[in-house]
Amino acid sequence: MIITVVSGKGGAGKTTLAASIAQVFSAEFYDLDVDAPNAEYFLQPEFTETAPITQPVPVFSAERCNGCGICTKECRFNALYKILDTVYLSEPLCHGCGLCKLVCPQQAITFQNSDVGHIRSGHSNRTNNTVHVGDLNIGSTRGTYLISEMVKKIDSNKLAVIDGPPGNSCAAVAAIKPADLIVLVVEPTPFGFHDMQQTEQIVQQMGKPYLIIANKALDNNSVDDFFQDKAKSAALTILLDDRYHKANLQGEILSQQFDEIHTGLQQAIGKELK
Ligand code: SF4
Ligand code: SF4
Repeated sequence: MIITVVSGKGGAGKTTLAASIAQVFSAEFYDLDVDAPNAEYFLQPEFTETAPITQPVPVFSAERCNGCGICTKECRFNALYKILDTVYLSEPLCHGCGLCKLVCPQQAITFQNSDVGHIRSGHSNRTNNTVHVGDLNIGSTRGTYLISEMVKKIDSNKLAVIDGPPGNSCAAVAAIKPADLIVLVVEPTPFGFHDMQQTEQIVQQMGKPYLIIANKALDNNSVDDFFQDKAKSAALTILLDDRYHKANLQGEILSQQFDEIHTGLQQAIGKELK
């Protein structure tokens, strides 16, 4: 079973709670927030493996290409453009689908691997399980590809927790896609609630079961006010507490330090586990 933890905006406490969920259920952990992975700060894994991730991209033979432009018209991602009779690739837009090679009448296209990033893997004594961290190369725009490659490695027969990217981008959708359960973390502020609703719409459109955790709430009434018009309400409310803040700054896992968080997560998520 795969649990993906997402939030409409950064700073809601997504990674903090993803680490706690992994600790409570001793789950395998996948940090798919590949632009800025930081779950290792809490999980403190000992990394033993690093695997490079590459993506195939087209290369054009100047001798064979006659500049017909068929490949530029067929590419669904607008990754190819032509100036005079020469074809150019915008690498960040290429999805490596291979269609351009198929349609080229001159067999002018071959593929070569382009470096996207890497995956570090190791063991965490805090969760007593494996941790995998995706590192996107600086400046690369192919986070979605790296996430998709990491998702292929997840054994859905085991319990896995994914820390997804914040926001509502293609990368967030790629992290939501494999999930059996979504945990949507919301900071109960007007801004946080607004962004959460966008993520909630995506989750609903993808037909994923989900529950909401309201984090950093002033009190239970303030959270109820946010959810007043909705059938869905928070499965767990975590109050704004200076002790949590300090533990966070020290890289502690909240569920390990505070019984109320451990029990709250156990109850809210435990009943959803298959
Ligand atoms: S591999 Fe696919 S996405 Fe990339 S340039 Fe060719 S057709 Fe476009
Ligand atoms: S389809 Fe082949 S021959 Fe035509 S422009 Fe593209 S690479 Fe060149």
